[in-house]
Amino acid sequence: MAHKKKRSGLDCMIFSEKTVSQIAAADLGEIIPVVGQISDLGPHRIAISRAAHVCWICGYMVEVDVEVPFLEITKPQKCPELNGCGSQKTLKLQEDRSTFIDIRSFNICGKNDYYPNYDFKIYTTDMASIIEINSDVEMQVKILRKSVNSKDKHFELYGFTEKVNISLISRNKEEEELVSSLSKGGRNSNQIVRNALRDICHQRGIATLTDVLNRCEPKGISEFQVEEVISKMLQAGELFSPINGEYSFAR
Ligand SMILES: [Zn+2]
Repeated sequence: MAHKKKRSGLDCMIFSEKTVSQIAAADLGEIIPVVGQISDLGPHRIAISRAAHVCWICGYMVEVDVEVPFLEITKPQKCPELNGCGSQKTLKLQEDRSTFIDIRSFNICGKNDYYPNYDFKIYTTDMASIIEINSDVEMQVKILRKSVNSKDKHFELYGFTEKVNISLISRNKEEEELVSSLSKGGRNSNQIVRNALRDICHQRGIATLTDVLNRCEPKGISEFQVEEVISKMLQAGELFSPINGEYSFAR
């Protein structure tokens, strides 16, 4: 990514010099670079990305691409006259001939935002990246809208991205506390292990498994949980292990 500007303190800006809360109507339809911190995670869902409608009179199939987040499926009113029979309201959705896609959502917030609790919802088809509450992320986001009140024609902006990049930004303890008190999910065991690793590495450059266990066990985290988090971070390339049982952050 072209973005090289170092972020300091609680700064959390979008590359285009906008904060998360400044994403507005003018951005609709644009693809803009966004950085932020995960404040809430949605569940893994599957949705129809391409809907197949079949005419129950002539059997003609009409395929319709569904807009992200793949919730509202537009059903054609009429069977096409050219290839079908031209009948009104005879098309029925056929799930077994439609295309399904994996999707999940998350909210990001701008940490140094004018509205610090402002959340921006992003949908993604990236199921591989390990994202969790408090992860710092950066991505190219397409700004879209959905109707929140069809009567008054009010819309809500949301984003879509195919790839979420996790950025490792070291934060000091005060920031961690602030961020954690702001986020809805709070800290989980995962975050405790991460914080322990970050603190130890910050002090000594390298963390041994024993060091991490000594910090996490009094907080009720089992050896198994610690090893699981470390193993995920190694797989994601966030941590590396120069010597067996010793860990250091990849950057
Ligand atoms: Zn027909």
